[in-house]
Amino acid sequence: MSQTSKNIAIIGSGLVGSLLAIYLKRHGHSITVFDRRPDIRNIEFSGRSINLAMSNRGWKSLREVGLETEIKKIAIPLDKRAMHLVGQTEYYQKYGKEGEAIWSISRGVLNRKMIDLAENAGVIFKFEEKVWDVDLPEAKLYTGDTEKGHWEEYQFNLVFGCDGAFSRVRHKMQRRSRFDYSQDFIDVGYKELTIPANTDGTHKLDKNSFHIWPRGKFMLIAMPNLDGSFTCTLFMPFEGEVSFEILKTKEQAKSFFLTYFPNVMQVMDDLLLDFFKNPTSAMVTMKCYPWTYWDKVALVGDSAHAVVPFYGQGMNAGFEDINVLNQIIEKHGDDWEAIFQEYQKERKPNADAIAELSYRNFLEMSSKTADPKFLLQKKIEKLFAARHPEKWIPAYSRVTFSDQPYSEALALGDAQEAIMQKVMEIPEIESKWDSKEIEDTILSLL
Ligand SMILES: Cc1cc2nc3c(=O)[nH]c(=O)nc-3n(C[C@H](O)[C@H](O)[C@H](O)COP(=O)(O)OP(=O)(O)OC[C@H]3O[C@@H](n4cnc5c(N)ncnc54)[C@H](O)[C@@H]3O)c2cc1C
Repeated sequence: MSQTSKNIAIIGSGLVGSLLAIYLKRHGHSITVFDRRPDIRNIEFSGRSINLAMSNRGWKSLREVGLETEIKKIAIPLDKRAMHLVGQTEYYQKYGKEGEAIWSISRGVLNRKMIDLAENAGVIFKFEEKVWDVDLPEAKLYTGDTEKGHWEEYQFNLVFGCDGAFSRVRHKMQRRSRFDYSQDFIDVGYKELTIPANTDGTHKLDKNSFHIWPRGKFMLIAMPNLDGSFTCTLFMPFEGEVSFEILKTKEQAKSFFLTYFPNVMQVMDDLLLDFFKNPTSAMVTMKCYPWTYWDKVALVGDSAHAVVPFYGQGMNAGFEDINVLNQIIEKHGDDWEAIFQEYQKERKPNADAIAELSYRNFLEMSSKTADPKFLLQKKIEKLFAARHPEKWIPAYSRVTFSDQPYSEALALGDAQEAIMQKVMEIPEIESKWDSKEIEDTILSLL
């Protein structure tokens, strides 16, 4: 169904705001995007920057507007995990079936590209214009700085809040009655570090792997950049026995890396400089409901559902919001109230499911990856999935390589986990994990 052209504001020119602008422009609307930050295209940054893993849901949403091929040119496929355990040589775990991969992409490079594409399509961007208030029933925005005495009022037909986890638009909705809201910070923080490229521009570690150094309550990961470097992220408790809190001096940080990550330390040229220069950041799960206000205002992306990053799905989920919203737009045409109602009802359970999956992955990655029983369970599941690919799709594959709703992936994953718990109770499972008996037991439990 086609739509009557509306004057639409999008708050936030991040990944979600800029992709939503491209989608809505295709329906013939007038789009203005506001961002409090300067234009990211004018900010100097090296090829080394924060990178993200794009998987099936993200690609699907880009494909719909013809951007997949172009964006894949600036991404690196990772078809496996490279596990770096203490005292062992590194080993590889394939992510999925042949040809399945997640893609490492620089957030900055992707964001610049998407703003360019939106601008070329006729979207207007207003940078360094912070929205400080929204009149929800009237779809009016107020930007600028009241203290400095210069501010602007804008009137729109519709407003989309794509302004991230600490959304101003959501903040305004929060003041209404019957608006549910929760935010949960985890006690683990993260810090970004860099492994620079070799002098000839090649990568120092395998380029097509997602590298993980699990160390119980903390871990280091690394994803490749196009310039030969890797962006590493150290996840570690803020406080406690081994924590950011206790690493106050260069000597302490050096001794920590020598103890737990001696091999990585050798390839991180500016480790100590980066460690004390780069911030230690927090991670939060944020949930809210409703996501919309009548036919006037809607939240999309992190503003509606921020998740901890351990499934690599935050942006993917935000892009999927847009794709689903678009399908609903095509169904209801000009009935924005029906569009918003269906959008929030469809997406909320899925956002809750990916929040839960992401949190569980945090627990799994931090406490279970070194547990032999857990590793054996994963080995049994993998073998069974290889023998019966039509009967057993691992939860990770459903989330990462399919577009099955997150809520279904969570429910089916739970059912599989219950089966595996029974299997792990079988006496002497360690010696017969790959036997026909175990295979038949799983088949009988399905
Ligand atoms: C460490 C880490 C790793 C991650 N890894 C992955 C990954 O591998 N894969 C993945 O899919 N996701 C990942 N994510 C999640 C992903 O980064 C987010 O889900 C995604 O960036 C959300 O995009 P967004 O556009 O909704 O919000 P944001 O990127 O937060 O953008 C919000 C925009 O709104 C602007 N804004 C805010 N307030 C105002 C205001 N009042 N007025 C005007 N403008 C405003 C901001 O300046 C910003 O430009 C990761 C997150 C973290 C923290």
